[in-house]
Amino acid sequence: MEKILTVNNLTKKYGYLTAVKDLSFTIEKGNVYGILGPNGSGKSTTLGIVLNVVNRTHGEFSWFGGNTSTHDALKKVGAIIERPNFYPYMTAIQNLKLVCKIKDVTENKIEEKLELVGLLDRKNSKFRTYSLGMKQRLAIASALLNDPEILILDEPTNGLDPQGIHQIRQIIKKIAAQGTTILLASHLLDEVEKVCSHVVILRKGEKLYSGRVDDMMATHGFFELKTAQSEALVKHLESDGNFGEIKTENGLTTAFLNEEMSAEVLNRTLFEKGIFLSHLVKRKESLEEQFLEITKNQSN
Ligand code: ADP
Ligand code: MG
Repeated sequence: MEKILTVNNLTKKYGYLTAVKDLSFTIEKGNVYGILGPNGSGKSTTLGIVLNVVNRTHGEFSWFGGNTSTHDALKKVGAIIERPNFYPYMTAIQNLKLVCKIKDVTENKIEEKLELVGLLDRKNSKFRTYSLGMKQRLAIASALLNDPEILILDEPTNGLDPQGIHQIRQIIKKIAAQGTTILLASHLLDEVEKVCSHVVILRKGEKLYSGRVDDMMATHGFFELKTAQSEALVKHLESDGNFGEIKTENGLTTAFLNEEMSAEVLNRTLFEKGIFLSHLVKRKESLEEQFLEITKNQSN
């Protein structure tokens, strides 16, 4: 896999506060990465460092396998890390032409990018007439004018209404489908779940998990069981190698699976043992529950 960005043991301190602590991760070409964490967990600081707008305290990062200087590498990066800021009395086209001049890129991609973000029919409207969602979409078009290798977005749907959020997420997926690598910071679990293939979870500047979003969800689930023969049930489950954690609360036994097992198979096995269930439900933890599981038991 081609490496787009490698971050090694990155640390950022603001006085006594450690905003990012010993953070390492790799971004590979063609994937959609989410940096997920609550407010203040160091997402924007991390993006700021790799985009050379925040100075790091320790650690390293390198772009594109380390063969280019950060200055040159950033010409192949499209980033939106602040609220979109364009000239209010200029049209979308006029604003993007100006961006082309500033970035020294040709103007021939303007219409294509406006089309991609669904603003082609509003290209001659003044920026001040745009909704917040349209402003954000224009910012995305602007960041794509030079066909970057990677698009970086910081909380791309913050402040938008549900329709605006949906549009931005669809556009991100479309850009990813065209082969552009994406790195987005978000405090929204469902955003990462819906949009990203990979995730780096941060809490207080520290990495708690990184890997595929699928793998994070790839647990085999658990059974919720009720029976009058609760003791016999727990005894059986404990002797069955397929189960991990087993707990009973208020007469409800929860048994987590280490291996795949259907409700039917469990029901039959218990029946044959003379254990009759009054309640049997098989569930999977949502990403949210797993996120809470990963983030619990962490000091501070
Ligand atoms: P996130 O983007 O995940 O919300 P940030 O990277 O913005 O988190 O912030 C991480 C921590 O660093 C927070 O505690 C924040 O208050 C602090 N921080 C961010 N920028 C500065 C700064 N310029 N000066 C001092 N502290 C800062
Ligand atoms: Mg932030």
